Amino acid sequence: MSTILTENGVRKMDEGDPLATYRDQFYLPKDVVYLDGNSLGAAPKAAFDELETAAKTEWADQLIRSWRGADWWVLGEKLGNQLAELIGAGPDQVTVCDTTSINIYKALHAALSLRPDRSVILTEAEGFPTDSYIAEGVQSVRDRTELRLEDLDEDTIEDYLDETVAVVLINHIDYRSASVRNMKAITEKIHAAGAIAVWDLCHSAGIYPVDLEAANADFAAGCTYKYLNGGPGSPAFIYAAKRHHGSFSQPLSGWWGHVEPFAFEPNYTGDTGIRRLLCGTQPILSMRALKASLDMYDTVDMAAVRKKSQSLTSLFIDLVDQECDGLGVTVISPRDADARGSQVSLAHGNGAAIVHALTERGVIGGFREPNVMRFGFAPLYLTHHDVWLSVAHLKEVLETEAWREDRFNAAGKIS
Ligand SMILES: *Cc1c(COP(=O)(O)O)cnc(C)c1O
Repeated sequence: MSTILTENGVRKMDEGDPLATYRDQFYLPKDVVYLDGNSLGAAPKAAFDELETAAKTEWADQLIRSWRGADWWVLGEKLGNQLAELIGAGPDQVTVCDTTSINIYKALHAALSLRPDRSVILTEAEGFPTDSYIAEGVQSVRDRTELRLEDLDEDTIEDYLDETVAVVLINHIDYRSASVRNMKAITEKIHAAGAIAVWDLCHSAGIYPVDLEAANADFAAGCTYKYLNGGPGSPAFIYAAKRHHGSFSQPLSGWWGHVEPFAFEPNYTGDTGIRRLLCGTQPILSMRALKASLDMYDTVDMAAVRKKSQSLTSLFIDLVDQECDGLGVTVISPRDADARGSQVSLAHGNGAAIVHALTERGVIGGFREPNVMRFGFAPLYLTHHDVWLSVAHLKEVLETEAWREDRFNAAGKIS
């Protein structure tokens, strides 16, 4: 970085922003710079109308007729097809349902069912914990299945692949550091070893132009309440490549996944398409809030999202270098914008207290143990000037050591 960044110079970066019109489509509280969209995305204003229609017209007025009349019955697949555009999936290979954790559970069993002669689930030792917890759960109910937790990346994964590995569960973008994995290269290595690739897209869906088909991925799952702005607890999504439809099995064999759900047969026969991954009745109201967000995404250019995301995160790093030099924070996300998702993580021994002090000032970020402050940059509703403001507050909190106050260090605080 050669020239000094000024507030006016940063304001100029917002001129001509092709995504500028989206900010007004979100409800954003006054005097808040929201840098935690990687945990819970902001609310699209359209979600309020969508929820009202779903609750008042479809539920209250139309009652049970809405299962067909308002397409509630196939809402997951409809939303899945909208979402497919954002993750490079073809039609009818994505459905919205359940939680990411549950979808990973189904995907791991599905993968194991496709490799009956193999016994190993390989996943990351340092990934988001639910992934390895769920893998443990899968292992616990299957005889002779072994779980291996390793440090997986493009240049290490081959060390752990052998003819016993049935499935690899791996994150596309790391939740702690935001480093991006090469999905295509890693999937190729997994396939070369004869295993199935399950991708966790929680930190890339809606923020990074994912291309599952180009990567030849087998299964994928991810959240919709982070960058996809679907609202608290909005259902997750699951992808199964067409080539596996009709071939895999999964143990949550509820009636929604039956080939003829209304035949009410005593025995289970799975649907031959993506619905085999469904279990039971889905949260229609939550799905409708997500629909509002996906309708907005129908108009969004993901290349522009990626470009602005890189610009915002690069600016944040440059400003931290310029303003917070010598104040004890270290950038732990990749400095190469191409290797980074839409979050910048800073390490500081008192990170939790600093995040609380920032939150009180209206700059909302997140914290992850042991010392990681996470700042997520959602290009649809943030500006470069927001980045300026956030670093100005960070600098002040660090310089004045405002974070030392007791209320920021109380036990039991979470962020
Ligand atoms: C947020 C997140 C999850 C969350 O799973 P839920 O079942 O929705 O609670 C899973 N995996 C990763 C990588 C995440 O970041």
